[in-house]
Amino acid sequence: MKGAPLATRIRAEVAADVAEVGHVGLATVLVGDDPASHIYVDHKHRAALEAGIESHDHRLPADTSEDDLRAVLDELNASDEVDGILVQLPLPGQLDDTKATRLVAPEKDVDGFHPVSAGQLYLGHPTFVPATPAGIMELLDEHGVELEGRRAVVVGRSQIVGKPMAHLLLARNATVTICHSRTRDLAAHTREADVLVSGVGRPHLITADMVKPGSAVVDVGITRLPEGLAGDVDPSVAEIAGHLTPVPGGVGPMTIAILLRNTVLAARYRRGMLAFP
Ligand code: NAP
Repeated sequence: MKGAPLATRIRAEVAADVAEVGHVGLATVLVGDDPASHIYVDHKHRAALEAGIESHDHRLPADTSEDDLRAVLDELNASDEVDGILVQLPLPGQLDDTKATRLVAPEKDVDGFHPVSAGQLYLGHPTFVPATPAGIMELLDEHGVELEGRRAVVVGRSQIVGKPMAHLLLARNATVTICHSRTRDLAAHTREADVLVSGVGRPHLITADMVKPGSAVVDVGITRLPEGLAGDVDPSVAEIAGHLTPVPGGVGPMTIAILLRNTVLAARYRRGMLAFP
């Protein structure tokens, strides 16, 4: 299940939607000098530009205080030029990631990390859904993976991957199990999975003997090793699984495409083209 072809299609759809809506603006806020975060934010700006979205790039020094961050976010929340706002995580130690995500106005929360967005998803009325799990749902649908009544196992329970993923699968009537670092006998759970999503960040944690033959396996994990990027799923799983996402080139490209789609959604909410709950 390669991500690039579908991501390219979604980005083209976003570009058409931007033309229909008129002006759409995305603001990113990056604090500090983490090289990986700078690369991620650069990618987001390039993708936004290609889709016709105007981007606003705010890069703040590593010693930024909570008050300074709040002031920047207050301004962006109030700005008429800005439809969507994302705060690149993780933030430097003096700032609290959870608190920072609460400073973004819920109607501009294109990352879907604000408690209002998370609560809407929990209640089954999604507004902004975190881009990575939303992109995975698109990939599963694109490849005709059946969800209703099937066993789905999600490994990892973070706010940005595991938990929203489990809610999305539940909303599609899968029977969902969430596994984490304290799960006993992980393999006993994963072997039952018709759909297995691993978002852990441990290279090759999921081995072929842990996978049900013919199942759909989604590898969210990305770990930088000297020899290159590694996913959570051992390459030998390709021989067992019916569907498998590659790393890189699987889930990754979908994440940015959905972020852009969320930005257009934010613009529609702000213009009253859709009712924000
Ligand atoms: P995270 O916040 O560190 O969460 C990792 C989760 O894995 C935690 O819930 C943890 O359990 C669980 N875990 C750790 N060791 C485990 C084990 N041995 N067995 C079972 N579960 C275990 O990470 P994250 O932000 O969700 O990201 C997960 C991975 O996805 C990372 O590699 C990240 O780089 C990647 N990622 C990729 C994309 C993309 O676009 N492709 C997007 C986001 C993240 P506890 O809760 O018990 O600690």
